Amino acid sequence: MIFDVLTLFPEMIESACGYSILKRAVDAGIIRINTINPRDYTLNKHKKVDDTPYGGGAGMVLMVQPYVDAYESVKHSENSVTIMLSPQGKPLTDKIVNGLAQYNQIILLCGHYEGFDERIREIIKPVEISMGDFVLTGGELPALCLIDAVSRKLEGTLGKIESAEDDSFVNGLIEYPHYTKPREYRGLKVPEVLLNGNHKDINEFRLQKSIERTKAKRPDLYRAYMKKSKQTD
Ligand code: SAM
Repeated sequence: MIFDVLTLFPEMIESACGYSILKRAVDAGIIRINTINPRDYTLNKHKKVDDTPYGGGAGMVLMVQPYVDAYESVKHSENSVTIMLSPQGKPLTDKIVNGLAQYNQIILLCGHYEGFDERIREIIKPVEISMGDFVLTGGELPALCLIDAVSRKLEGTLGKIESAEDDSFVNGLIEYPHYTKPREYRGLKVPEVLLNGNHKDINEFRLQKSIERTKAKRPDLYRAYMKKSKQTD
């Protein structure tokens, strides 16, 4: 999987991909991260990438020429998708992440300041993805969230020890509670069933806890899960 990230702050992307599981995936050749800085594609002598909005108002707008030229410099593979990180996009979900993991190349467009000149959208026609109904200062953190979420779905990124198969959302529920040593802390004991080595009982306990938690914390997911279970009965 190749991630090509258009950003005015390439160091933010490069540094965050230099640690832990993402670094291991880069080193193993499972993912490759390229950064492309629109500032390197400016045709004006001051290397300006943003300007004041026509019609007035606060903030600076990313200029169309450097951004589109930077985008067009990226070699597209046959199985690629272009995503604009934007609060106006579809909120990212596990289902969308699974779909993205099927591509060979994801081109990520990070905005900054007031956002993009609208003609960037009109020319590139990206899919717009949001991290939720709030506004961040730039698209770099959302791009990193997406890179991380997609990378952990790729074969070989997670070792057995970090397996994603029981993660929240994978089966429509949020995950069951975890415990590790010690067996007791400040009077709080690890549930007995987890200590008895009976995998059938452990699986039943975990599923029950997942269902209870989902009902309490995410009633929207719980309703969808119950509806689906009834349909498959
Ligand atoms: N003025 C824009 C609006 O209200 O739609 C917001 C611009 S925001 C300050 C600057 C950039 O941060 C955006 O272009 C986008 O790339 C990124 N961004 C901010 N919030 C985001 C979110 N919730 N999801 C994804 N990207 C976001």
